[in-house]
Amino acid sequence: MLRPGRLKGPVYASMSRLVMKFGGTSVGDVDRIARVARIVASEARRGRGLAVVVSAMAGETDRLVGLARGAGGQGGNEALSGAGFDDEYDVVVSAGEQVTTGLLALALRRLGLKARSWQNWQIPFRTDAAHARARVADFDTTELGGSIDEGVIAVAPGFQGITVGNRITTLGRGGSDTSAVALAAALKAERCDIYTDVDGVYTTDPRIVSRARRLDKISYEEMLEMASLGAKVLQTRSVELAFAQRVPVRVLSSFVEPGAPNPGTLVCAEDQIVEKHIVSGIAYSRDEAKITLLGVANSISAEANIFGRLADAGVNVDMIVQTEARHEGRRNIVFTCPDRDAPLAAETIESQREKVGVDEIHVRRDVAKVSVIGIGMRSQVGVARTMFEALAQKGINIEAIATSEIKISVLIDAAYTELAVRALHTAYGLDAA
Ligand code: ADP
Ligand code: ASP
Ligand code: MG
Repeated sequence: MLRPGRLKGPVYASMSRLVMKFGGTSVGDVDRIARVARIVASEARRGRGLAVVVSAMAGETDRLVGLARGAGGQGGNEALSGAGFDDEYDVVVSAGEQVTTGLLALALRRLGLKARSWQNWQIPFRTDAAHARARVADFDTTELGGSIDEGVIAVAPGFQGITVGNRITTLGRGGSDTSAVALAAALKAERCDIYTDVDGVYTTDPRIVSRARRLDKISYEEMLEMASLGAKVLQTRSVELAFAQRVPVRVLSSFVEPGAPNPGTLVCAEDQIVEKHIVSGIAYSRDEAKITLLGVANSISAEANIFGRLADAGVNVDMIVQTEARHEGRRNIVFTCPDRDAPLAAETIESQREKVGVDEIHVRRDVAKVSVIGIGMRSQVGVARTMFEALAQKGINIEAIATSEIKISVLIDAAYTELAVRALHTAYGLDAA
């Protein structure tokens, strides 16, 4: 997927190109858009072809989601309930970005630069037809790339695309990051710079741990785990795409005046990182629910039945723990899923209760997942012990554990999330001096 824009003529661009992306807070009002224009202008002076991807102004997408829900009924999921609504939901919620493209193009022209906005149908930026969570498909950047190479700054809307049937789609919340990386891959850009309201990727969310440190570099693998385990600084899909297409991504601040130091964090291949940390970061997610099934009848197909039905219902199951029950011939199963899926998960199992044979179903929604991530973990023993000891010292009970080669996640009572993140940050020596 995403072959470089089926460029006619030479495969490589005639000039080097850069993609810059600005998130919602960075374009939150016209003064901020003016500052973004100055940042873009300063980059333009370096002589590279520029494509700029923008989000909707802060709060705008939330407002549009509210309007769509009001008109189409409340849905349990991100979009609206039921198929047959999501295409029009996308029409509504994609509107915010169009405004920002025009405002930024105007601000750039005011500075004397050549700039134009490109809506998705004009590029055309193609996606599949999975409304509200569309995936980027192959698209042709011949015209866009040509215009950029002629020195016209392209300003494109993030978060959205169009299907082959020319219907508007959106890529899921936070999707402008993915738009930017996809454009960078298709344009064969040197790098994709993601400007946001923090000056890089930190060891953990700097809003909850004041002693978090900015990382100079982080590997794609670690960033992928950080994002998928809750660090919303980059949308998970954008990191997947950057990893697959080897697009170097830099995360940096849009609140710095052009010319001031702004090194940010480079998301890059592991072999470009000299100093490998055992633990690079800590992520947390409060969007979790824990479902406990007590006394599940022992049968070879019990798990296949339970998790098969949950998959059919569209419940995204994460951690799974299975233990022997006290009664012979029975076992207990605990699993987690996103909090918003909890009622659906419980209903689905309730409807299978007779068939599968489940004594009790319990749902807990006040849980959180805290994860430690680091590529150094692959070759280091004792990482889990440090985690368990640090949590035990704070009296925090672990309700489930999941591991991969480069991460350990634990499920805990949500009330202790910040305490756990801070304790782990200290235990792994990540606190800033
Ligand atoms: P944008 O609107 O620019 O896309 P987001 O709000 O999506 O910005 O992402 C930036 C936010 O991500 C920061 O304000 C910060 O609170 C949060 N964040 C969470 N984890 C991290 C982390 N490890 N490093 C940096 N920021 C993080
Ligand atoms: N505006 C969209 C959102 O708020 C996309 C983005 O900002 O990345 O989710
Ligand atoms: Mg974002």
